[in-house]
Amino acid sequence: MLAAMPPTPPTTPNPGEPPVRDRGDACPGALRLHAADDGRLARLRLPAGLLTVRQVMVLAAAAEDLGDGSVSVTSRGNVELRGLGEGCGAELAEVLADAGLLPSATHERVRNIVASPTAGLDGLGRADVQLWARELDSLLCGRAWTAALSGRFLFVLDDGRGDVAGLGGDVTLIAGGPGPRSVRLRVGGQDFLVADADAPGAALAAAGAFLDTARTAGNGAWRVRELPEDRVPDLAGALGGAGIAAEPVPAREMSQGAPPLPGPLGGTALHVLAPLGRFTAAQLRALAESGGDVRLTPWRGAVVTGFPDRAAAAHRLRALDTYGLITDPRSPWVGVGACTGRPGCAKSLADVRADADPGRGGLPVHFSGCERRCGHPQAPAWVDVVATGEGTYLVDGRPTPRTDLPDAVAAARTPSATTR
Ligand code: SF4
Repeated sequence: MLAAMPPTPPTTPNPGEPPVRDRGDACPGALRLHAADDGRLARLRLPAGLLTVRQVMVLAAAAEDLGDGSVSVTSRGNVELRGLGEGCGAELAEVLADAGLLPSATHERVRNIVASPTAGLDGLGRADVQLWARELDSLLCGRAWTAALSGRFLFVLDDGRGDVAGLGGDVTLIAGGPGPRSVRLRVGGQDFLVADADAPGAALAAAGAFLDTARTAGNGAWRVRELPEDRVPDLAGALGGAGIAAEPVPAREMSQGAPPLPGPLGGTALHVLAPLGRFTAAQLRALAESGGDVRLTPWRGAVVTGFPDRAAAAHRLRALDTYGLITDPRSPWVGVGACTGRPGCAKSLADVRADADPGRGGLPVHFSGCERRCGHPQAPAWVDVVATGEGTYLVDGRPTPRTDLPDAVAAARTPSATTR
């Protein structure tokens, strides 16, 4: 049986946080629960967001039996269970482990792998990064030293379409270059080309190079961007030491691909979004009843696979619409996000999930209960709505009473509006 760890105190990871070297890595996990205002919170890492039908059903049951009846999807395609009781940690751990969702008790918080969610489904990618994700996860869980990575360290695997490459990975792999070394490995300002077959191993070696550098830097960096400027991971040495042939190349900006819209996907899959990023247990079961694997996305949706043809996927999409999921690409709720807010977060100045109003479709918009803006979009342009007190907000910096939010948000979401 897996043992649950004691809950962590509330964390302060962003603005106003203490100097890097003074922080303890209290990032929540499935075994290390966080004490929130609405009960314990568990964060379960799902490499590439992948869930089998059984695992979706187990999560739905856990949310209902142990939590508040819902599951939140994070900006890394992981999930959070909220409202957990004081003493349920061991039971939750056992349920998740039985379903194969906790392959390593020691490494559960370092399995942060985002991969292009539609890879292999629509013919647009240049490599099946879902397979890379599984191999990288196996490598991570199979090495004792990787447990020293922070719970925030992120691997990003982009299949060449550019949909996830801009999500701020510490180690990023981008498929699709020319020649035998077709994969770009990016860490900080360094780019190397490696062969497709070496890609997961190269990502692991890069993580090792980061850890070595962080140790010698001595500042307790959790992420590559937190290293002192004069400390650069020795990627060439790490790749060479792992027997991986690699070619240094100039860093190159990559155009950012758009996230998929809700609807049928290729010939055998569909994509839906969770309202404000949260699936109820009933909605999860509806996804599972579709019969195929589910991939949760960094845009807080789900790709459901396994349909015989596009007509079957479209038919199922109509059924999912009746569960309150976002299935229409024209829905004003596409691109609308919100943090936890009240009552779950003690820092929140408002119940932002209740106040969130999409106005009308357009740019992504994120409602935050305070200036930390947890989970805000990584998009190049988005509308920033931040609570400043009970009933008052800033919409892209403009003071706005809650009653005026719909009009103000609608105006800000139009592409011509001045946004972040
Ligand atoms: S942004 Fe939201 S969830 Fe994050 S600390 Fe502020 S109120 Fe809490």
